[in-house]
Amino acid sequence: MIYADYNGSAPLKSAVTEYLVKRLQDGPFSNPNAIHSLGKKMMFGMENCRRSIAKVIGCKSRQIIFNSGASEGITHLFASLTQNAGDKKIIITSGIEHSAVVQCCALYASQGFQIETIKTTNDGQIDVAHLAELVSQHKGHIAFVTAMAANNETGVVQPYQEIGKICQDNEVPFFSDTTQFIGKIDFNFAESNMDYAVMSSHKIGALIGSGCIIAKDPSTLSPFILGGGQEKGLRGGTQNYIGIETMAVAMTYFDEHKQELERVKNLREAFEARIKKNFPEVVIFGENAPRLASTTMISYPGIHGQAVQIELESEDIFVTTSSACSDNSPETSKVLKAMGTTDNIGRGVVRISLCLNSNEELYNKIESALTNAYNKLSKIQNF
Ligand code: PLP
Repeated sequence: MIYADYNGSAPLKSAVTEYLVKRLQDGPFSNPNAIHSLGKKMMFGMENCRRSIAKVIGCKSRQIIFNSGASEGITHLFASLTQNAGDKKIIITSGIEHSAVVQCCALYASQGFQIETIKTTNDGQIDVAHLAELVSQHKGHIAFVTAMAANNETGVVQPYQEIGKICQDNEVPFFSDTTQFIGKIDFNFAESNMDYAVMSSHKIGALIGSGCIIAKDPSTLSPFILGGGQEKGLRGGTQNYIGIETMAVAMTYFDEHKQELERVKNLREAFEARIKKNFPEVVIFGENAPRLASTTMISYPGIHGQAVQIELESEDIFVTTSSACSDNSPETSKVLKAMGTTDNIGRGVVRISLCLNSNEELYNKIESALTNAYNKLSKIQNF
């Protein structure tokens, strides 16, 4: 079996599984906020995890607020930033955001905020020049800018430092959805020009159900879940300390193995070049933009992505399409539409997303299965 949907959810890293097997057998288990010695031990362990994660992502441990994952972090940030906005009613976002951001924008639009969308280049990058125009046009009225750091569908890495610089120069808070970025590529929060970022355990091979907000100044956040005052009163509820421990293990593993990223990127590029040589009509999204090392979003115009996905699955290879599909009317995703992709190409998409451990054998198997699928399906083009 080849699992090639790491951007959807990554299987546990082997280092995490090894850690968990021992951890679950040996304990201890206790509420980290309890005053007895076991509780203190748990709290000490959790604070150690906060320090380890902070070290890998280049922030201070007090800047990390643990929670259940990125959707919660995003919703919490929107709640805080809109509350801080006073009479500033413009939210600037991009056209390639995850639905968590899109839905939050829709919610606050219904409450009187005006949403301005930054254009996207054909290669899938947020158009920084257009952001600069929007910022100058709405100067003094902008609540915040929200723009992701790496796109979940295409893997295209965004010019977040430039975006952050424009925001800093104009004293506008900048929140970046870093869910697909942290733990997949080298990241330093202190040098990112971001005010806020988020992270999710299940995207990095840790146990699903935990995550965090990273805030330059946590005092700008308002309490989100009310409860026993955990996370300095910002996020009530007993922390998922085992999930948090696995996040620290996964991030430490990433830090120790990130030199592998170059090798993985070369494998991906060689794979893409071979497929393009055999099938010149194939489109690779964000081909000329910087991308996550192991994400390929590929389309054979005229062939349904879902049909390709089923063919690959019959060879035990698990990929996704990015299209919202309904029986015979698959749609081009909004991310691809923002990149100017036509339906003929947008409907043909499959996403192959792997991890640091990917190797040549794996890519060879995917290439062979994709070749079989394209050879078969191109004879009976779907649309
Ligand atoms: N943001 C991006 C870019 C994502 O890819 C995802 C997950 O698919 C999320 C946010 C939501 O993450 P979570 O599943 O931790 O809520």
